[in-house]
Order: sequence, then C-alpha cells, then structure tokens
Amino acid sequence: MRKINTRNFRVATRSTTRDVNRQIVLNLIREHQPISRAELARRMEVSRSLLTPLVRELVTRGAVVEGGTLRAPQRGRRPTLLRVRTNRHVAVAIDVRQQRTTIALADFGGHVLAREAVPTPGTPTALVEMLAQRVPALTALHVGADAPDGEERTLAGAGLVMPGMVDRRTGRVLYAPRLGWRDVDLRDLLAERLGYKVRIENAPIACALARLWLTPDGLTGGHSFAYVSISDGVGVGLVNRGEVLRGETHTAGEFGHVALDRSGPPCVCGKRGCWEALCGDGATLARYHARGGAPAESVEEVVRRARAGDGAAVETITETATHIGRGLAAMVSAFNPGRIYVGGEITAAWELLDGPIRRALVEDTLTDAARATPVVPDRNPAEYRVLGAVALVAAPTYAAPRVG
Ligand SMILES: [Zn+2]
Repeated sequence: MRKINTRNFRVATRSTTRDVNRQIVLNLIREHQPISRAELARRMEVSRSLLTPLVRELVTRGAVVEGGTLRAPQRGRRPTLLRVRTNRHVAVAIDVRQQRTTIALADFGGHVLAREAVPTPGTPTALVEMLAQRVPALTALHVGADAPDGEERTLAGAGLVMPGMVDRRTGRVLYAPRLGWRDVDLRDLLAERLGYKVRIENAPIACALARLWLTPDGLTGGHSFAYVSISDGVGVGLVNRGEVLRGETHTAGEFGHVALDRSGPPCVCGKRGCWEALCGDGATLARYHARGGAPAESVEEVVRRARAGDGAAVETITETATHIGRGLAAMVSAFNPGRIYVGGEITAAWELLDGPIRRALVEDTLTDAARATPVVPDRNPAEYRVLGAVALVAAPTYAAPRVG
C-alpha cells in the first residue's frame, strides 16, 4: 500500500481515470481540511470546472461533507469548506495481547464508540471462537440503520493487531513469541466467521500505519519514521517514504529480539538480553520488584507510583528508559529515520524517559544529526494499538490508486 504524496503528484490526464483524480481530491481534502474549493483547485493546479464535478461526486457518495465557512472577511459569498467524513465508516478494532484482548468499535476518525477487554484465549481456535461470539454483539449496537443511537453507520471491516510477525500476503501469524503461536491462520478463519473482510498486522506496523493515515501530525512530520511499540513485547514498524518496510519474508522490524546484551535476562524467544527482555513491560515490573517496590500488577501502576514520588518506581523507569535509548540508538544507526514515535503505557511517564533516551542517543550514535533524531511519545498511550487496528481498515480507503 502506497500513500499518495500530495506534495508531489501529477493530476491524471484523460489517459488515466476519473477514479484517480477523485482519489487525489479525497486525499488533498483529508490532508488540508477544512479546505475551500478554490484552495483545492489551486493546490491541484487545475481549473474549478475540472474540480467541481469530482467534489460533487465525493459529496454525493458521502465521503466528503460541506460545513463551515472561512472566517476571514471576504467580498461576496463566503466559500463553503470541505472535509472528509470520518464518522460514517466504522471498523472493528481488535488488539490481541499476551494477557488480554481488547475489542473496540471506532470510526475512521479514530473515535472509539465502544470497547471491551477480555482475557486472551490460549489457542488460535479459541480466540476466533471468542471473537465470533463477541464482535457481532458489539457491532449490533452501533451499526446499521437500526442502531439504537440513531446514527447511520457502515461497517467497513475488522482490523486485527497481533503481538508477533505476520505475513501480510497470506494473513498468517508467522510467530508470536508471547503467545507461543507459530504459523497460524487467524485472518481467514475470522473473516469466514464474521462474514466480512478482516485485515491482520503486527502491532507496531499497524501503529505506524495509524501515524501515517489517521493522525494529523503523521502528515506533516515526514514520511520516513520508525514506530516503536513497548508493551509486553517490543517491536518496530519502519516507514520509508510513506511505505512500510516489510523485508523479504515479512519479518522486518523484529528489533525487539536483537540481543543487545548476551549476558542479560532470558527472553521469551529463548535467547538472552534481547531489547524486549531489557525494556518490555515484564522487564520493568521485574526491575521494580527487585528494587523493593511494593507488588504491582502493571506498568501503569509503576508509572502512577513514580508520579507520586515512589523512589524505586522513578529509578526503575529511568533505568528502563536507558535501555530503550540504547536500542533506539542502534536503530537510528541502522535505519536513520526522520523521527521515532514511541507507543506504550510506559510513555505516560515521558518526563522520566526523555532525558535518559536522549543521553543514550548522544552516547551511542555517530553524527550530530543522528544524535538529534526527534523521539516523541504517541499521544494516546491507552489507545495506540486500537487506533492501529482501525488504520488497517481505514488506510486502504486513502491508499494511492494504481495507475497504468
Ligand atoms: Zn527475544
């Protein structure tokens, strides 16, 4: 899937199709909304007469809505502004983690309408069975003309985010170390049970897609970046010029299992001292308890205690931050991303992470530009993976059409 680069495109001519032009209009509106027709025509470098029927079609289809006017005083009629309609299409978002699975329903703007969390079943078959029971119950309440809340919504499909490597071509989970699942089919089994399209992806790649497609700063922050997901496991989604780097056999980004310290703690994958074993949530919890912290169930709890002045919690998070930074430095040296996003519950304590991460980057990378690589937390530590699942369904709507 390639994202349309709206800063460098050529408007399709008669030799290409009207569909392409419509897609370009949709993407431009999405990127610059709210936007007037005049501004749109200026950006596309086409006449209003070419643009008007395309916009009319998008409005008729319900993909674009008119609303609001420019506030600046203008002579004559104020232009009506256009924006992409995101609340009509909804996606089922499923985030599978080691302990719990979140099932949510969200619109294409990333607004969560409903959610529930249940313990993750032990086998792929049991997971499909559980989802086949619960997902229809959830969608029945919010989708269709008879939805009790009165909103007319269309279900566009389901996005399934997995803690492990996924072969995008076959939809098979190649290996999910935390679940102990190897080479299993979830996508097709679930699609068969639900009766609509299911898209499946490794969590950090899905989160990178959400950055690219759903969030405004994903559009202005450059199209080459890395998304690092830190939860039970640690993984990386790499985006180069708007395209996800998948690698020859779809396992690129498995940086969480690069061994940074061979004498480090054992990892679920069987090796020692993987980046994940040093800075994943399990490592943080173990470190906190080793420092004499009171029993804590989750990293959120350790973050809360750090904020309340618990010394062991502050030291623990600071140490985890140094390990995060070491891995990020290696990644900067290998891939030179324009920016790094970090997602995960621990990022709620960013004020404690920021300093040690930067110090590690300064110590371990080789150029001033590498040392200065922007590292920013995902703004939504609680929902970041759910939004990743939504992006799996929403992104294809805005993907670049194939020309020729
Ligand atoms: Zn490992």
